Amino acid sequence: MKSISKRSLNINRKKPMILSPRGVEDILPAKTSQYQWIEKEASFLFSLYGYEEIRIPTFERTELFSRSVGEETDVGKQMYTFLDKKGRSLTLRPEATASVVRAYLQHKVYAQPGEWKVYYMGPMFRYERPQAARMREFRQIGAEVIGEVNPYLDVELIEMGAQFFKKVGVTDFSIQLNSIGCKKCRVPYEIKLTEYLKNNLGSLCSLCQKRSQYNPLRVLDCKRKSCQSILRKAPLTREYLCEDCGSHFKKVKMGLEDIGLKFELNPRLVRGLDYYTRTVFEFVSSLLGAQDTVCAGGRYDELVQELGGPPTPALGFAIGVERLLAILEKKGIEPPSKGSSLIYIATLDEESQIMGYRIAALFRSQGIRSWLNLSERSLSSQLKVAHKGEIRWVMIIGEKEIKEKKFILRDMQSGEQEGIEWDRLKELGKKLK
Ligand SMILES: [Zn+2]
Ligand SMILES: [Zn+2]
Repeated sequence: MKSISKRSLNINRKKPMILSPRGVEDILPAKTSQYQWIEKEASFLFSLYGYEEIRIPTFERTELFSRSVGEETDVGKQMYTFLDKKGRSLTLRPEATASVVRAYLQHKVYAQPGEWKVYYMGPMFRYERPQAARMREFRQIGAEVIGEVNPYLDVELIEMGAQFFKKVGVTDFSIQLNSIGCKKCRVPYEIKLTEYLKNNLGSLCSLCQKRSQYNPLRVLDCKRKSCQSILRKAPLTREYLCEDCGSHFKKVKMGLEDIGLKFELNPRLVRGLDYYTRTVFEFVSSLLGAQDTVCAGGRYDELVQELGGPPTPALGFAIGVERLLAILEKKGIEPPSKGSSLIYIATLDEESQIMGYRIAALFRSQGIRSWLNLSERSLSSQLKVAHKGEIRWVMIIGEKEIKEKKFILRDMQSGEQEGIEWDRLKELGKKLK
């Protein structure tokens, strides 16, 4: 009884507001049009290269990522892992490649002839320190090709990435390229590198000191000046490439030169994930400051086998959508307009609202986007709504208009208006488009 009376006392108290968790954000309608545009351009372009869309689950068994991304990598340590009600360990996807490979194996795609070319788009989750264009929920658009070793496929994939950026108006990027070898040549290299890092341990930053033990390759990537000067003399992967890796890399470079795509060799470029082999690349934009990578990818020839499949070469890339949008914003690039214009149908009473239904239906059947007023606002405040929404066309339906079956169409830009008879409404689509 006591608790009930307590609750009833609280009934009129203002409830605390619930905000979104740190590091995630709403994408409001003003911004979704940008996402839709980017996504549309990507699907169209990727399909021209023979890729089809795959939609993978948002969460997977944790084991999938611990065996692919690696638990000791930066991404592995940032995973959102939780137990479900049966005590099974699940993880919100921190990236998509592992899931694509799992799907490839689960659906026995390897039994079909030809390579598998898929693209995906959607949110990924990493427990990072939130900062500009780096959120805990962020979006990626990526492409993967599984089942082919030909180095010209690396070339085609990189070219597809470059075409995509050009398509959305980003031309000032550089392509950084490196080869990190395969299992065979990486082992002797990592021994040499670890030895070198061990001898210089005292001069490395604390993060690099840790990394030199669990992920020595990643030390090469450190942006700190003190580490960079040590790393200048560190052994490089390209000096240790086996014959196959060496000839693969040579063909990738040759292929890119053949199609006239400029790239920069960056012998210290590595990737933050365990599964990469041979070709690695990044699209870098100077407009992003320190967060300069907008697309990253490479080969992962050993991952399919690592996840229990037959030996199968593969490669792919992922584009950071928020980072791309940050570049577009800096460059002042806006998505093209939504197509047909919007008309606001102003109504004054119940009778005109009912007429408004019929008119709106007529407009919509012509592909005209129509916003019918179903509030009791005055005409002047309805016009304010249209003005604020930057809606160019307003149709006014009042008592007189219904009687005469002639409705007022106002052009909010010029302020001009004209009466339109019922029969002419059927052709209004042409005028407003
Ligand atoms: Zn090799
Ligand atoms: Zn460092």
